[in-house]
Amino acid sequence: MPQNPQDDIALARSFLARLRSAFDAATLALAQRCSAEGRLSGRKLDAQQVASFELAWAAADLLAAETGVATLRPDASPLDTRLALLFAVEAGNAVLARLQSLWLELGLPREALRSLRDDAPWEALCLSAGGSQALEAAGQAVAASDGEVGQLALDEPHAMAQESFRRFAAEVVAPQAEAIHRENLTVPESLLQPLREMGVFGLSVPEQYGGSAPDDREDALLMVLVTEALSEGSLAAAGSLITRPEILARALVAGGTQAQQAHWLPRLAAGDPLCAIAITEPDYGSDVAALALRGTRVAGGWRLEGAKTWCTFAGKAGLLMVVARTDPDRTLGHKGLSLLLVEKPAFEGHDFVYRQPEGGTLSGRAIPTIGYRGMHSFDLAFEDFFVPDANVMGGEAGLGKGFYYTMAGMVGGRMQTAARACGVMRAALRAAIRYSQDRKVFGQPLVDFPLTRAKLARMGARLAACRQLAGAVAALVDRGDGRMEASLVKLLACRSAEMVTREALQLHGGMGYAEESAVSRYFVDARVLSIFEGAEETLALKVVARSLMERALGVASTSA
Ligand SMILES: Cc1cc2nc3c(=O)[nH]c(=O)nc-3n(C[C@H](O)[C@H](O)[C@H](O)COP(=O)(O)OP(=O)(O)OC[C@H]3O[C@@H](n4cnc5c(N)ncnc54)[C@H](O)[C@@H]3O)c2cc1C
Repeated sequence: MPQNPQDDIALARSFLARLRSAFDAATLALAQRCSAEGRLSGRKLDAQQVASFELAWAAADLLAAETGVATLRPDASPLDTRLALLFAVEAGNAVLARLQSLWLELGLPREALRSLRDDAPWEALCLSAGGSQALEAAGQAVAASDGEVGQLALDEPHAMAQESFRRFAAEVVAPQAEAIHRENLTVPESLLQPLREMGVFGLSVPEQYGGSAPDDREDALLMVLVTEALSEGSLAAAGSLITRPEILARALVAGGTQAQQAHWLPRLAAGDPLCAIAITEPDYGSDVAALALRGTRVAGGWRLEGAKTWCTFAGKAGLLMVVARTDPDRTLGHKGLSLLLVEKPAFEGHDFVYRQPEGGTLSGRAIPTIGYRGMHSFDLAFEDFFVPDANVMGGEAGLGKGFYYTMAGMVGGRMQTAARACGVMRAALRAAIRYSQDRKVFGQPLVDFPLTRAKLARMGARLAACRQLAGAVAALVDRGDGRMEASLVKLLACRSAEMVTREALQLHGGMGYAEESAVSRYFVDARVLSIFEGAEETLALKVVARSLMERALGVASTSA
């Protein structure tokens, strides 16, 4: 541990501030390369994908490192101080390495980075906070903490909610999670019903409609805390149940008519019906603006024709939010899309067919997956399926606005996915701590080896950084900002969950690869996080890097 942590924190802050200036210079240079007449050009952005991807990752590491040391209060635990400094030096060096390659790529003067690279106080901090002795000491402290790292400053109601959902996850979710995963079961009512009673489905629904979100603002922090706690018990069978009502409730608040809000929001909050989100199609996933499922106007409503895929929980759901092309003019792109609310009966199992009295059919088949089991993700086929006018989001005025309403839901969905990643990381870290304390190799507990402790330290530092960043971004979202930051924390936390679950599995040796140990589930579950709610590449390029470049050019959303 450094002699005086406050001095080290001040040093880290000042180095990261200098790094931020270099990062801003690289961002502006890249933005200029990607623009014509002061506007970002789609063609030029595509030509600079590799550099943009580097920029987005540098942004994620840098913001997480800055947040970690900025949010450290004088009364922070010695462990959290240690971990924030460890993450700051490791992430700071990663940012520096990325900037060096960007610098070369962009032809910027190399001297500007040299003073950062050769900074003697920073080198000393790297040794005192991230050297082998520091790693070993931090790992020992992480093991002793049982994974209680990156603690957020919470008021009493939030702390109580965290505590009660963690208890529920440990006592009710975790004991059922393994069977659901290994036998590919549907999430049972023994989980759904208590979660309904605990108000889980109403976290993003305003209080006036029966939810727990304040009427005048959001409470993203509560959603983050509950999601993380439940995801520690099971990503697929608990933490992810909140994602669907989160997206649909926000879309309804953004675009629903008063009648739709009054009708659907209380029902969503009560978890009756459960809901699902149908955006992705076999030919279009990341390219949402190109979606093709056709809606044709008929007397009193619309007929849907086409396919959706990966619609998670479509079987159990009684309400699907379907993005459909309601204007046949394909040149309209995203402006031809609308949201339709499809009602259907709830089905158990992996297949269903629903024939409407009006003659249409909706059939679904669950796609077998390596993980994320419990809700099942379905291929859906709509044949001449009737949706009444009352179920067009926003009514006649909402036609053509489906893309915007979907994106309104996605900010929350991405925050929520970052929280899911934190929950899986916490589960993996705690399993790794327990196993390395119990397991003896070469005559001594695994946890007594310096390398094991270094691994635990890095896992703990990553989890702590992601938790702190998620908390900070939740506060931004509550103020109505943070669209880019929600994508950024999603990016970082989901990749981090892959890294942490990988190390947790590795520390279990052969047992980690056995289905019977929970870490094998954490590993396969974590892998999906970087794919959905905006695939990693799409978010990095089209949201994070692009927004940063727009900010650097001082313009709002001006790409040509
Ligand atoms: C388990 C699971 C559950 C899901 N649940 C749902 C759900 O409930 N509802 C729903 O609508 N969808 C759901 N999805 C779908 C998910 O959102 C999509 O898989 C995701 O958006 C990516 O789309 P895609 O699979 O078509 O990949 P593609 O869009 O075909 O992308 C393939 C690869 O190309 C990359 N890529 C994309 N664009 C670019 C580019 N411009 N430049 C460089 N690389 C690029 C992507 O990042 C990806 O790595 C789920 C997916 C999974 C696996």
